[in-house]
Amino acid sequence: MSHIAYVNGRYLPQGAAHIHIEDRGYQFADGVYEVICIWNGLPVDYAPHMVRLSRSLRELSVRTPATNGALTVIAKELVQRNRITKGTLYMQVNRGVAPRAHPFPKETVPPSVIMTVKHGAGPSEAIAEQGVKVITAPDQRWGRCDIKTVGLLPNVLAKQKATEAKAFEALLLTPDNTVTEASASNAWMVTKDQTLVTHPTTQAILGGVTRATVIKLAREAGYQIEERPFTLDEARAAKEVFLTGTTTFVMPVVLIDETPVANGAPGTVALELRRLYRTFIDSLRADTAWNV
Ligand code: PLP
Repeated sequence: MSHIAYVNGRYLPQGAAHIHIEDRGYQFADGVYEVICIWNGLPVDYAPHMVRLSRSLRELSVRTPATNGALTVIAKELVQRNRITKGTLYMQVNRGVAPRAHPFPKETVPPSVIMTVKHGAGPSEAIAEQGVKVITAPDQRWGRCDIKTVGLLPNVLAKQKATEAKAFEALLLTPDNTVTEASASNAWMVTKDQTLVTHPTTQAILGGVTRATVIKLAREAGYQIEERPFTLDEARAAKEVFLTGTTTFVMPVVLIDETPVANGAPGTVALELRRLYRTFIDSLRADTAWNV
């Protein structure tokens, strides 16, 4: 059965849902989005996703399309109508529909709101137990990677390169060989002295909601965390490398290009953090999960 989507005020079968050809999301990638994991019918880290959505809109001076309360009503409705127990909720807000011209349209143009859902959350446990291969690719994105825009072409090209190499992800490298993040997840390494290192939340990376939750869980578990850039050489020499993200949870990396990470098996830290993350999402509560 076709999924029901929400587009600008209407719930429609996904195949019948359309966006105007002069929508600025389509014409200019002038829009922002969020992907939220739905676990046991409840959203994971809903509040921080909505906070990031508001921030992305503010950074681009896109009008807020509706109150958080109104967006939440739609989001809940869509999850329920599509009977999503484990899946993802996608929200996109574009600057709206106007005759194609680079400057922003009049203030009165309403932003477009699109929401869709998908069944299936996170990669299988079997993949995580084995760990994944990543490749490296140049970070060819713009200077504001902290804004979650729909302008994802460099990310798409990097992910495609990974897919063609039978890899799970692409680590993105700046010209000085710094690992910023991956095409759709944040990158981490564990040093020999068991310190967790991940790039700080500058304009060079997307401040991942999962990254923030894993930082909290790791601190509670007693790990030291350094938010600083690290190089590909450091990652290659690290005890562990792993990824975090809404659709990734915590994923151990065992191969970078053709070089094994440590002994080429998933690391104990990544596996422990994956377990802690799983416990966190398993304990979401229906009376609070949708709060912003
Ligand atoms: N970095 C990039 C470039 C992403 O696209 C994503 C998620 O799509 C992430 C990191 C992880 O962010 P989050 O944990 O909020 O899903």
